[in-house]
This record gives sequence, C-alpha cells and structure tokens, in this order.
Amino acid sequence: MTSQPKTLGELRSSSNWSEQRLANRSLRQELRENLLCRMEKGEALFPGVHGYDDTVIPQIINAILSRHHFILLGLRGQAKSRILRRLIGFMDQQVPVVAGCEINDNPYRPICRACRERIASEGDSTAIAWLSRDHRYVEKLATPDVTIADMIGDVDPIKAARGGRNLSDELTIHYGLLPRANRGIFAINELPDLAGKIQVGLFNIMQEGDVQIKGYPVRMALDVLLVFTANPEDYTARGKIITPLKDRIGSEIRTHYPATVEEGIAITAQEAWALRDGYLLHLPKYVQEVIERVAFVAREDKKIDKRSGVSQRLPISVTENVISNAERRAIRNDEKTVVPRVSDIYAALPAITGKLELEYEGEMKGADHVSREIIRTAIAKTYDDYFSGVDMRQIVQWFDLGGEIQVTDSAGAKEVFDGLKNIQGLTEKLSALNVSSKDNIETQVSAAEFVLEGLYAHKRIGRSEERVFTAGEKQPKKPEQRTFEREEPFRGRRPYN
Ligand SMILES: [Zn+2]
Repeated sequence: MTSQPKTLGELRSSSNWSEQRLANRSLRQELRENLLCRMEKGEALFPGVHGYDDTVIPQIINAILSRHHFILLGLRGQAKSRILRRLIGFMDQQVPVVAGCEINDNPYRPICRACRERIASEGDSTAIAWLSRDHRYVEKLATPDVTIADMIGDVDPIKAARGGRNLSDELTIHYGLLPRANRGIFAINELPDLAGKIQVGLFNIMQEGDVQIKGYPVRMALDVLLVFTANPEDYTARGKIITPLKDRIGSEIRTHYPATVEEGIAITAQEAWALRDGYLLHLPKYVQEVIERVAFVAREDKKIDKRSGVSQRLPISVTENVISNAERRAIRNDEKTVVPRVSDIYAALPAITGKLELEYEGEMKGADHVSREIIRTAIAKTYDDYFSGVDMRQIVQWFDLGGEIQVTDSAGAKEVFDGLKNIQGLTEKLSALNVSSKDNIETQVSAAEFVLEGLYAHKRIGRSEERVFTAGEKQPKKPEQRTFEREEPFRGRRPYN
C-alpha cells in the first residue's frame, strides 16, 4: 500500500496494475476472479448468513461465476440486503481511478469525455486516485417517484451555457446514482416499484451502454454489476417489470425463511442485542424456541398476509424486548440473574404487532388478539416438544381442587417461588427442561411458569387477564385433547343440494 502509483505513468510500469491486467478487467470479472481465489483457499464466503448453505448461496456463487446481473426474490426479512452487501468482500481492496472523475473512470479505459480529454493532454502525468471497495457499493430503494434524473442523470443547461456547449454534450451531464456507481455494485431494492421509464433506462445501459436523457442520446458504457431485490409476487405480476429488463437479468434467485426452528434461533441469536452491561443473563432455550415459533406460526396463520411475509426481524426484536422486560423485573426485585419467562413474550407485544400485516379476518380481531393467539400456539407447540406424553394430571388436579396462583411478569422470583412449591409434582417435571432444585430460583420460576403456560395453552388449566392460573373451564366429556391440530373441526364433504 505504501508505494501506490500516483500517476498514469507509474501505474503503467507497476506490476500489479499494468494495462494488460487492468484494462479489460471488468468489475464482474474482478468478482469472479476473487471468488474463485477464495473458493480455492476454502474460505467462508458468506459468514454470518445462516440457513442458505444448500439453497441460496450456491446459486449466488453460480451467478457471480457466470458474471450475471441477478435478482433476489423473497419476502421481507430474508437477509436479501445483507447478502448483497457481502458481495463487497469479493472486490479488490482498492482500484485505481482517474483522480477527480465523477464516475470513477478506469485510467486505461476512461468513458467520460472529460477524462479522455485530460489523458490526451496530460498523458502519463495524469493523476491517479484509489477507490476502496467500501465506496464501490451503491444501494437505492426503488419508489415510484424515482426519476431518470435521480437514477441516470440530467443535462444541466447552466453548465452548458457557461461552457458554450451543446446540451447533449457529455460535459453538461449531471450524473445520477447509476453512473456514479460505475466500477461498483449498484443494488436496487424493490425493483417492481421502479417506473417503467426508468426500467427502460436501466435496460438500455445494460444492453447498449447508451441512454436517452431528455431526448438526447448519451453514451455511457458503464462497468457495473446490477443486483436487485423484489417481492416474488410483485416481480411476477404482469406488467410490473418490462420484459426486456427481465430478460437481461441473468439469474433469478429465491430466498426463504429458516427451514427449521433451530436455524431461526441461530439467526436470531446472532442478531439480537443480548449481551448487555451489568446483569448476568440466562435466556432459557424454551423461551428462545417459543419466540422463534411465534414467527413460524405467524407465517402459517391464515389471518396474516402471506404476500408480505413475517420478517426474521420479528423474533429478533421480540428477543430484545423479552430480555428488557426480564431486566426490568430483575432491577425492580433486586435479583442478580436476568432470566426471561414466557410471560415476557406476551409483554413483548409491541415488537410483534407492527410486524404483522393482517388479512381482513385478522383486522376484524385486532393485532393484539391475533398476536396473543399466535404466542399461545407457539407455547403449545414448544410445550409438546418437552412434555408430550408426560403425565400432568397431578398438577391439573391441584387447580381442579381450587388451587390458584398469580404469576405476573413483574413479580419477583422469591415472591412466586413459595407459591409454586405448593403445586405438588410441578418441581419434578422441570427435569425435562434440565432445571432442578439446584438451579437459582429465577430459573426455576421461569421453568415452572412455562409448564403452567403450556397447560393453559392446551386449555387444561385456566388463566385470567391478571395472570392468575386457575382450574380450566369444565368441558363436555370428550377424549382428552392434547394438541391444537386435533381441535380443528372435521371438514366433512359438503352435501349436494
Ligand atoms: Zn472520467
């Protein structure tokens, strides 16, 4: 780095940056070469991206090796932007540019007229600047009001008048985002929201390297990698994307939500802010699982709009809110360990409701109600993982005989602990959660509360608004119901009439 060439002449005589090596090395060739190199070394290519090893990542690698412009199709919160930003890692650390050029011209192949004129007059003494890879990534969220001027450029009549130039002269152009991204990656999020006219402009740049600005033809053989993201339904909807543009996008890659709860937990654990100052945190596995299942259940729920999906940001924000609620409880009750409980997930409703797009039926019920139902289902499923087939009659009986206990999300562990001990058989059941009487009481209380919440989720015991657990409502004699699936009404064949 110390002896980087500062002029075109020095650049020419350098070994790393010779004309032979650089003149025809496009960005897409550069990405390909660096990717191959990292693959040969066996390096991790997309560190921190989970659950895509066998699906999305191989397809992206193929797209880069093929030197394709590509699009990621997926619902929100599927790490699309993150993956695109990671492409920076496949660029050279720095590349030489003509100093002062607005569009980062390659010194050996300048495309703007100013640079060509300058090199013609200054020759080998033309100054070179160095562009680091962090500055070679431009991102734009497409909205319907984005104009050709924003995206590609505009002719500047004042500049033209001052210089006594013709309007269509390249020197009078005020460059937009795309030309300024020359020699870099240009990422457009939500491509279908881009007006048809701009899509035509993009297509022309990809295809011919020229474009019309206010009716004037302007030549711009840009060296860019175009990457896009879109919601799959928007992208495939008729008339949203002009066909020739679609045709020029080499690879269409589908992203997805985590396939398993475990994968989801890995992502959430990586992203959520959990390591906080001061307090010792013990986040139980079953709490993580319930949080993750909230997203899984919501993605399946008929009351939630499938088109927009349920972002992975939901479990991430919920985790943060759950820890905060537990933190608040610990401070208030002077506890040393922060141990989140299932009730903290109900307290994290503000991190849920805004992230669910409701269908009509859901809107009628209200976001709060729908979210509570989803949490309850998530608790039931997680409970089944640990306690399926475990005999809980003794505990249920305690409530049936008139036992009651209040476990609010603000109540300290000490306050609740003695009451919980009265429920015969409860402590032994906690071994399924790897919790015993040797654990601190915060942990025991959290585990016991999970059992009660699980029984409540299965309607075997009751619970009031004030979080008082009581006997369940007496149901008409029926075989005991264990899971929600079985409660679905039998869908008989509709009679003909
Ligand atoms: Zn230039």
